[in-house]
Amino acid sequence: MGLFNKKKLTDDTANTLPSITLHDLVCEKLDIFCWCNRCNHNNVIKTTHIIERLGANYPVPEIGRNLRCGKCNNTHDISTRPNWPSHGGQIARHMD
Ligand SMILES: [Zn+2]
Repeated sequence: MGLFNKKKLTDDTANTLPSITLHDLVCEKLDIFCWCNRCNHNNVIKTTHIIERLGANYPVPEIGRNLRCGKCNNTHDISTRPNWPSHGGQIARHMD
């Protein structure tokens, strides 16, 4: 089972990030922040707009596959994440 453990470790790493779905964003009243890794163009997309096309159970990190950069027409390298209201540059916050 040695090999299995090694594979398991890799899988666990991949699953460390919680797969946030569009449904979660609706609950949190968050929109989607998307970022083109080629030209650094970025934009915020309304969650309600995307949910009509992809469905409520669609994972947020996968949304980039369905997007095209409006600036350089890149379709392969777009990152997406919830548009957290982090004006102070705060990346993580503790929930008490
Ligand atoms: Zn671009």
